[in-house]
Amino acid sequence: MTASANPASNSNDDPAPRSRQLFERALAVTPGGVNSPVRAFHSVGGTPRFMVRGEGAYLWDADGNRYVDLVSSWGPMINGHAHPDVVRAVQEAASHGLSFGTPGAGEIDLAQEIIDRVEPVEQVRLVNSGTEATMSAVRLARGFTGRQKIVKFAGCYHGHVDALLASAGSGVATLGLPTSPGVTGAQAADTIVLPYNDLDAVRQVFAEQGDEIACVITEAAAGNMGAVAPLPGFNAGLREITGAAGALLIMDEVMTGFRVSAAGWFGVDGVAGDLYTFGKVMSGGLPAAAFGGRAEIMARLAPSGPVYQAGTLSGNPVAVAAGLANLRAADAEVYAALDRNSKRLGDLFGTALTAEGVPHQVAFAANMVSVFFSETPVHNYEQAQAQQVWRFPPFFHELLRRGVYAPPSAFESWFVNAAMDEAAFEVIAEALPHAARAAAAATAPGADA
Ligand code: PLP
Repeated sequence: MTASANPASNSNDDPAPRSRQLFERALAVTPGGVNSPVRAFHSVGGTPRFMVRGEGAYLWDADGNRYVDLVSSWGPMINGHAHPDVVRAVQEAASHGLSFGTPGAGEIDLAQEIIDRVEPVEQVRLVNSGTEATMSAVRLARGFTGRQKIVKFAGCYHGHVDALLASAGSGVATLGLPTSPGVTGAQAADTIVLPYNDLDAVRQVFAEQGDEIACVITEAAAGNMGAVAPLPGFNAGLREITGAAGALLIMDEVMTGFRVSAAGWFGVDGVAGDLYTFGKVMSGGLPAAAFGGRAEIMARLAPSGPVYQAGTLSGNPVAVAAGLANLRAADAEVYAALDRNSKRLGDLFGTALTAEGVPHQVAFAANMVSVFFSETPVHNYEQAQAQQVWRFPPFFHELLRRGVYAPPSAFESWFVNAAMDEAAFEVIAEALPHAARAAAAATAPGADA
């Protein structure tokens, strides 16, 4: 496809009038016009595209523009959009009824599939979102250890759980401060925020407060500040430090789980967590998520134990069918394609940005990839934030105009899917040089143009 396949992309006219109208309506009835903030395009400006259809590697918006989708619903769609097996499974499940509020056989199959793939996971509890999964895992860690404090890393996102929204915004790295109004100091007070990839900081905190710490929660590989892989030995160090202190290690694999390998990040570095959180891929695109871990710990959950956790729609039969079908469709060839496609995308980034002399780092965490407009490698949130973030909006919009739907923020991973074919890569290869030129021409705020 060339850019002209998009009805309005070669003209100066508004390429998305219908999306603009929809956004105006949405703004009247929904805060910011969206149901999850990054979708509003705040950090890139312009009109969010309202998508009406997805198939394979592509999305179509309400104006009929087609895009190669490099967001993949923020991760779940590893097999591409509307994969026939997943659609069939959903239709079949829906035809039998939408929700029963009773146990169902599909829930066992999905739990078994997760357990079979991720060795340290012996039992699974299904929930509805990644946020629920991390919230419940932290509660369970506190209930299991009888301790209150938790450690998280700056730049790691674990959903909008009150205690996990704390970050090192104060500059006082070991003091958890709420970063959202509505999160009280008390809710954040037991959260210790440390720099990612800094084992010395972890050791120091454990030396001082180790017997009060219930758990360390970490993204198994960080994807929410852009893709930032754990440095060699970082996850293993967390394993060792938490184990020695009697604290639990929660591997948040909501993003990495079943994407970076059949066994998620555990399949990449083999470091075993005590508890795991999953979402995205295992949901097939419907609202489903999970947490799991050693049976001894999971047994503390209600009804077998005293730590309460529940959900009206947990284990919903349609969502479970979608998740199971998505996982079963993801065979070795799918994982090989994800690896190939992310490498190819990364190479294209590098070629285009190098040709225009744009300072950049193409960062990989296995097959998650992102671009930092930075001279030096990025290993933590501070370094991610130090990038020339003002280059991103023009880069993004040039891609969008040319039929490539990128994450609308400089601090996100880009998600390839296995449905990307030569035609999809042609669109990207044509668009990227223009986007790189736009990034090169961008000027820092306050600089003379
Ligand atoms: N944990 C990680 C690592 C995530 O990337 C996300 C969402 O992006 C979450 C938790 C929260 O998941 P959800 O948006 O389903 O609540």
